Amino acid sequence: MVRLRGATVVCPEGLVTDAALVIDDGRIAGIGPGTGASGHDIACDGGWIVPGFIDTHIHGVHGMDVLADAAAGAVAAVAARLPRYGVTGFLPTSVACSPDDLAIFLAAVGAAAADGPAGGARVLGAHLESNFISAGFKGAQPARCLRLPPAPGEALERDGAFTGAAILATIDAHRGAVRIVTLAPELPRALDLVTRLTGRGHRVSLGHSGATYDEAQAAIAAGACHATHLFNRMPPLAHRAPGLAGAVLAADGVTCEIVADGYHVHPAMMRVAIRAKGRGGVAAITDAAAVAGLPPGATARLGDATIRVGAHCAELADGTIAGSITTMDAAFRLLVTAVGLSVVDAAHLTATTPAAAAGRPDLGRLAVGHPADLVVLDAGFRVRQTWVAGRCVWNSEGGGAVSPAEVRS
Ligand SMILES: [Zn+2]
Repeated sequence: MVRLRGATVVCPEGLVTDAALVIDDGRIAGIGPGTGASGHDIACDGGWIVPGFIDTHIHGVHGMDVLADAAAGAVAAVAARLPRYGVTGFLPTSVACSPDDLAIFLAAVGAAAADGPAGGARVLGAHLESNFISAGFKGAQPARCLRLPPAPGEALERDGAFTGAAILATIDAHRGAVRIVTLAPELPRALDLVTRLTGRGHRVSLGHSGATYDEAQAAIAAGACHATHLFNRMPPLAHRAPGLAGAVLAADGVTCEIVADGYHVHPAMMRVAIRAKGRGGVAAITDAAAVAGLPPGATARLGDATIRVGAHCAELADGTIAGSITTMDAAFRLLVTAVGLSVVDAAHLTATTPAAAAGRPDLGRLAVGHPADLVVLDAGFRVRQTWVAGRCVWNSEGGGAVSPAEVRS
């Protein structure tokens, strides 16, 4: 039994000031007034206790890409490094790739998810920024890996190249490891794919797409309930052409991801989206590339491309935006400062709402009986400690800096 004492606890219904949060057997056993001493107290005076951050869209950190470096253990290594940023659960995220590379990645995600949190963040299943996206809105994704949704009876190979059917077969073979699949609903047979994927328990997300409002609406009617990095890699919201962005903003039951680095989306547009959707309809994501956490100019991989730390984000050699370099603790600070959310609402966007999207509504909230996945922040919202399943897996006093040995070049 451990008691975290003296902080303000950020609960779903509001703040509990000068509180004690009791952890017992991996779960939250009590939240109440912090008077008295128990002999197992950890002083958190002047700080905040928030639910552990959950990132539904992250490609890597500290030089490791969860897809490109999957065979070298990147999924587990990224899970081990994320608690220093307050992350207690995440969806390792791929880009369009070959069926063989996808299978290696999904096997690693499945194994890490089955192992449970071993001193790091929980792996909550994969997010596939899949092969089934629009070439016109692919961003940094490799054009040669894009495919159309499979036709009935389609072969796994055509002219020596893999087909959409081969990708779907790989997803089927690793069904339990795949949580979210991003696709462009305007592609031929995309609505059939939405129906098939949702029927097998996957969450379909709309993104990397030039879909019209009607095309997006049809996909939502077919079961799509998530949107991949709202506003980025889709046509802009326009009053006579609402498009995909307008469709997902207007639809109840669709959770919109927003890259919360203050660069991918202007803070004012973040406020617009949060007002439209409510705090239960927006998940703050990093969309962090493997170069996140590295110094300016450092390089790493995204799929088989080389990316580098640019002035504001991760970039390909030609300057194409290739994800962010932000982290979830910085996203939380941005929501409270630049976007102007309350601490309670910021915790919803960084923990509660993404936990639900990840299929784990038991996570992402500080309440008695729920798993003790939480972050102790200082008065300036910097991470002091991160706890997963009642175990302290990161303590800034144990060394807040990344040692060179931990960073792959
Ligand atoms: Zn991404």
